Amino acid sequence: MRQNIAQWRHHATPIVTPPFVLMLIGLYTAQPASDQSRRAITNFCKVLLLMSIFDNFRGLFSSDMAIDLGTANTLVYVKGKGIVLSEPSVVAYHVKDGVKKVLAVGEDAKLMLGRTPGSIEAIRPMREGVIADFDTAEEMIKHFIRKVHKRSTFSKPKIIVCVPHGATPVEKRAIRQSVLSAGARRAGLIAEPIAAAIGAGMPITDPTGNMVVDIGGGTTEVAVLSLGDIVYARSVRVGGDRMDEAIISYLRRQQNLLVGETTAERIKTSIGTARMPDDGRGTSMQIRGRDLLNGVPKEIEVTQAQIAEALAEPVQQICEAVMTALETTPPDLAADIVDRGVMLTGGGALLGDLDLALREQTGLAISVADEPLNCVALGTGKALEYEKQLRHAIDYDS
Ligand code: ADP
Ligand code: MG
Repeated sequence: MRQNIAQWRHHATPIVTPPFVLMLIGLYTAQPASDQSRRAITNFCKVLLLMSIFDNFRGLFSSDMAIDLGTANTLVYVKGKGIVLSEPSVVAYHVKDGVKKVLAVGEDAKLMLGRTPGSIEAIRPMREGVIADFDTAEEMIKHFIRKVHKRSTFSKPKIIVCVPHGATPVEKRAIRQSVLSAGARRAGLIAEPIAAAIGAGMPITDPTGNMVVDIGGGTTEVAVLSLGDIVYARSVRVGGDRMDEAIISYLRRQQNLLVGETTAERIKTSIGTARMPDDGRGTSMQIRGRDLLNGVPKEIEVTQAQIAEALAEPVQQICEAVMTALETTPPDLAADIVDRGVMLTGGGALLGDLDLALREQTGLAISVADEPLNCVALGTGKALEYEKQLRHAIDYDS
């Protein structure tokens, strides 16, 4: 990762750039110059200095933040406090005569997904790890920042946001821009796999290979890290959303039952499993949906065995991504990973028996991080707390 060399600009007003200062010195020393013009330049310099001091001063009053802008959930970490907000990445609008007005953000908006009348639109602005709808993403970031940062009129926080390893320069710039226009004083970016590994407590700065697999809503990112940086990273478009879709299509095919995304997610988080239960059935739950044959609501019982069958394909794709990473990693680092095992983070890591299924299919030792849903936010927060040590991982300039 690029070393951040523009440290001096951290708290300075952007207008105070080196060429600008040189130009002022040049003007000041230029001959002949009248007393009046010298005085004007001196006063102008004083104003710039005051602006710069004021900007620093505002920094003192702000609470710097780290944001995990996920496809499914957005988390905010405040320096010195820890995670203070964790809400679904959803915004609901009220649409009237073509004009949109924000109605709800986060938890309240998620409750509306799949249940909206014509005049309300519930949107998930992040898809597959990147911003799919910029205006909505900006609204959401603004809302969350305002929620945790009440003194926004006076102070402006510095904000670090994690971005998927594969994000393009255009996507990175868009995320930075959204954060700046949402009220940040400075916006730094950190690669998500690095944040996930730090948050999971992995010794990423050691000269050994560490593999982290972050299973989010839209994507699974597999990365191999050594000496604090990424050696290999790949993102596959399989995550929690794909699992929900697999459950929906299984129930439609096998049971002629139509269920929505919310029900599918509830089934997954309640009885979902990546591995066929030993007794061939496992536990079960009652679910409701619409009977596709006669169109009326119907309640049926689904078993863990059925859900394991439904999830077989996405689970297989996650296994393949881990195997591909291992095959592509330089041999010495691959040997470290065989020794040390693989760490799972992200909400998908909570899927029942996913660690066992991965171990059976890849032969590697698999651990699930302590707080999989919080790892990326905790890691980004740690980067903020220990910025000096982790400076190389934070990008303020691209
Ligand atoms: P993102 O970083 O993309 O926002 P998260 O790491 O927050 O994603 O994980 C969200 C995903 O994890 C969702 O798809 C959610 O359904 C899934 N998830 C949460 N809890 C569980 C669970 N117990 N079992 C399986 N999947 C889960
Ligand atoms: Mg995530």
